[in-house]
Amino acid sequence: MILIDTHCHVHDSEFYPDNKEHAYRQARDAGVVMICVGTDVRSSIEAVEFARTHEGCYAIVGIHPHEAKDSDVAEIRELLQHEQRRTQNRDPRTIIGIGEIGLDYFYDHSPQDIQQQVLRQQLQLAVEFALPVSFHIREAFVDFWPIFDEFPDVKGVMHSFTDTRANLKQAMKRGLLVGINGISTFTKDESQQTMFRDLPLQHILLETDAPFLTPKPFRGKMNVPAYVAVIAEHQAALKGITKEEVARVTTANAQELFGI
Ligand SMILES: [Zn+2]
Repeated sequence: MILIDTHCHVHDSEFYPDNKEHAYRQARDAGVVMICVGTDVRSSIEAVEFARTHEGCYAIVGIHPHEAKDSDVAEIRELLQHEQRRTQNRDPRTIIGIGEIGLDYFYDHSPQDIQQQVLRQQLQLAVEFALPVSFHIREAFVDFWPIFDEFPDVKGVMHSFTDTRANLKQAMKRGLLVGINGISTFTKDESQQTMFRDLPLQHILLETDAPFLTPKPFRGKMNVPAYVAVIAEHQAALKGITKEEVARVTTANAQELFGI
């Protein structure tokens, strides 16, 4: 059984200053493949480095909406161009997507117009380099959908989706997958619980967002990619199917989206 943690930050020295190798080993021993997601230029470079030096890991590079005002999309482009040269030389693929990018009006760490501009620039990169996208959208769907629709060929996943059913419908209509993480195990919000139960497996990717959002029963501890198995188990229990079935379908979804 292979599980893919489609969104984690285990490569990031800010979050895992001294225990990333341990977290990596623990995940590999559990048969977990990791997709390491950048949030700014530094963490994107670290994601690429980590993926290159660790078997069973891939990288996604990009600028998080929080960092939009302080980051330069040109540096993300350089990483992608470097990757392009490597794969032309038949080196194995390392960068498999753009992310995490989007809009976050909940925290508003960057001005909204800058967030929108940086999102558009990175959607442009997704088109140019034909890569799928890991989206972080919070309290900003009203502005997000029109921007997304300017790039109709972009495929991707709504990472850590907890929004309304109406926005879930909008995502599914556009062929976007939904990333389910520890929130599904601990949310007390009944509409979220039913949404996580009813969402068909075909539309789901599993993720941890480690070190954040530690699933039950490990609340209070630091999250690690190995816990993606807990999220798979929880999905299986919710849907009354086996964990193997959850792994089989969600892993195939991830492999198809990211071409791995
Ligand atoms: Zn994240």
